[in-house]
Amino acid sequence: MPSVVKDFVQIDIITIFPDFFRGPLDFGIVRRAREAGLVKIDIHDLRAFTRDRHRTVDDRPFGGGAGMVLKPEPIFECVEQFKLAPRAERVTSNQSVVLLSAQGKRFDQKLASELAGLQRLVLICGRYEGVDERVGTHLADREISIGDYVLSGGELGAAVIIDAVARLIPGAVGNEASTRQESFFAGPELGETSGPSSTCASGGLLDYPHFTRPADFRGIKVPEVLVNGNHEDIKRWRRRSALEKTLQNRPDLLDQVKLSKEDKDLLAEVAGEVKR
Ligand code: SAM
Repeated sequence: MPSVVKDFVQIDIITIFPDFFRGPLDFGIVRRAREAGLVKIDIHDLRAFTRDRHRTVDDRPFGGGAGMVLKPEPIFECVEQFKLAPRAERVTSNQSVVLLSAQGKRFDQKLASELAGLQRLVLICGRYEGVDERVGTHLADREISIGDYVLSGGELGAAVIIDAVARLIPGAVGNEASTRQESFFAGPELGETSGPSSTCASGGLLDYPHFTRPADFRGIKVPEVLVNGNHEDIKRWRRRSALEKTLQNRPDLLDQVKLSKEDKDLLAEVAGEVKR
C-alpha cells in the first residue's frame, strides 16, 4: 500500500521501557523539530500488545542457553497496526522498519541521511539476549547497529538514530549550512557565496577545529589565521586541519573521499609533519 505523502517524518519506537525516552527526545534540536512539527515521535509499549495476564514479552530460547528472548507475536502485532507497505516495497514507499541489533549494518552519517529522507521510520528495540530471529527476517527490513559493542537494549541506539536523523530534516537546524560542514558530510558543496566556513564542507572528512572568544584563553591562543586571515587563507587552513585530523584519527575515511590536487598536496604536507 503506498504511503500517504506527509510533510513530517513519523517515527515509531517499540520498546518494553517507554519511560526510557523521557529526556533524550526532550532537548535541543530534537525537541525543536518535534515542536515545529517536522518530526512526530510515538512511543509504543510492547507490553500493550501481549495477551496474557502477566503481559509476557519474552520466553526461553529453543535449543537451550542462557537468557531470554523477546517473543515475536507482540512485536509483529505492534508493527502491523501501522498498516505499512509490504516488507519488499517499504523502501520505495519511503518507509522502513529497523531492528536495533549489534549484528546490524553499522550506523553512519550516510545512513542517517538516507533515513532522514523517509516519511516513516519504525525502530524496534531489543532487550535480554535479543529478539526472535523472525522479527529480523520477516518483519524488519533492516538491522542497524550503532557500533561494535553490545548494549543491554536497543533504546540508546534508537535515541542515537533519532538525534542524528532529526538534525538532517530540512528546517530542524537553524543554519542548514552547519550540518553540511560537519564531520563525515559527503554531500554537495554549498555555493561560494556562503563565506569561508560553509565552503569548507567536510566532503566526508572529519570536521575542522572550531574556536570562539576569547582569542587568548589562559595563554592558549586561537590560530592567528582565524583572527587576522583572509577568507582564502581561512578556507585553506580549515581544509588542511580537517585533513590532518582525519589522517590522525580516522585514516580509513581518506580512502572514501575524493581529494583534489590541492588536498593531496596538503595531505602530503601534514603527513610529513605527522611522521616527524
Ligand atoms: N545476543 C545479542 C548479540 O550478541 O548480538 C546481544 C543482545 S543485547 C544484550 C540486547 C539488545 O540490545 C539487542 O537485541 C539490540 O536491540 C540492542 N543492542 C545491543 N547492542 C547494540 C548495538 N551495538 N547497536 C544497536 N542495538 C544494540
